[in-house]
Amino acid sequence: MSHLKFPLSNMAHSEPHLAGRPKAMVVIVTGGAGFLGSHLCTRLIGEGHKVICVDNLSTGRPQNVAHLMATNRFSFIEHDVVNPIEIPGPVHAIYNLACPASPSKYQANPLQAFRTSIDGARNLLDLARQKGARILQASTSEVYGDPEVSPQPESYWGTVNCYGPRACYDEGKRAAETLFFEYAAQYGVETRIARIFNTYGLRMDPHDGRVVSNFVMQALLHQDITIYGSGQQTRSFCYVDDLMDGLMRLMSSNADCKGPVNLGNPSQFTILELAHLVLAKTNSPSQLVFRNIPQDDPRQRCPDISRAMALLNWQPVITLEEGLDHMISHFADELNLDSLQAAS
Ligand code: NAD
Ligand code: UDP
Repeated sequence: MSHLKFPLSNMAHSEPHLAGRPKAMVVIVTGGAGFLGSHLCTRLIGEGHKVICVDNLSTGRPQNVAHLMATNRFSFIEHDVVNPIEIPGPVHAIYNLACPASPSKYQANPLQAFRTSIDGARNLLDLARQKGARILQASTSEVYGDPEVSPQPESYWGTVNCYGPRACYDEGKRAAETLFFEYAAQYGVETRIARIFNTYGLRMDPHDGRVVSNFVMQALLHQDITIYGSGQQTRSFCYVDDLMDGLMRLMSSNADCKGPVNLGNPSQFTILELAHLVLAKTNSPSQLVFRNIPQDDPRQRCPDISRAMALLNWQPVITLEEGLDHMISHFADELNLDSLQAAS
């Protein structure tokens, strides 16, 4: 295939036209009040689209989209995607992001998380079919489970435990991919699947238990840094702005990208390395403490992004060091605000 000549991520996003759709589209973002969804809504509004954010606010926060409420091109519908949804008028594109992503959150109500992935995907696919909309599924590196190959290409089928605490998320996301495959094959729905690897950045819920937000909060509050297991397990951390570029390119690409596409940063770190980096950047006196490793915690995770590079001319450009700087100053501001609010 020919390589597009636009610059890599983080430059102004010049969105190719979604074939057959107007330039200013009506776009649904489910999970739009969450961490990733709120960035997506913001980017889409910035590009002139009309955005309908659908969210049940189970892990999302109204403050994540408060800055969009004054725009008449933005609307918010409180709705649980487990139930079918009707939207009047045209819909050109749907990003299906609704689903808790933090292990502690999806394990708090596993059956609801499972249904969100499966029933939610099905309801949104039905809507896409009815409206002739293109639909993108926020899938996950968790479909690879505890991978035995590294880095993980899309062709790897994964090693997933279907009978454990992570299964509600992993198997729900795998089943959702199957639904996307079948709706494309049987009904001709235009589908996209992004397998997203660990992403971090501004507007993460500081209390949702994921590792980057936990470590940054713990360091800023001078609390112990909680390492689960030995800390030798690895993750590859993608900054949210890079991910948004990848997601939007995947949605808007008219290339043949029906199958899953990995989106993530291929630089791999152990959890101990992450902890030391956060400690150094915050100059924090926090101590490392070691806790039990959660069951089925993947030992390694690293995306092979050759497909995204070839199809979308995309690769992340923000290093973990840079991304952490943004996140630390943002969280420090939020903490400062909190303490001022508490004092008043
Ligand atoms: P998040 O928890 O911040 O956001 C999820 C949003 O979905 C929240 O606003 C929540 O209220 C909403 N939601 C949950 N269940 C719903 C339901 N039944 N109906 C309507 N809304 C519902 O998580 P995030 O990090 O922003 O993740 C967004 C999506 O990306 C998820 O689908 C997740 O699986 C996927 N993903 C994220 C990452 C990551 O590192 N952030 C990695 C892989 C995949
Ligand atoms: N982790 C940790 N301390 C924490 C939170 C998480 O050591 O306070 C570890 C966790 O066990 C996993 C990794 O960090 O190995 C990433 O966890 P996270 O919940 O962010 O996402 P996951 O990739 O496991 O879904």
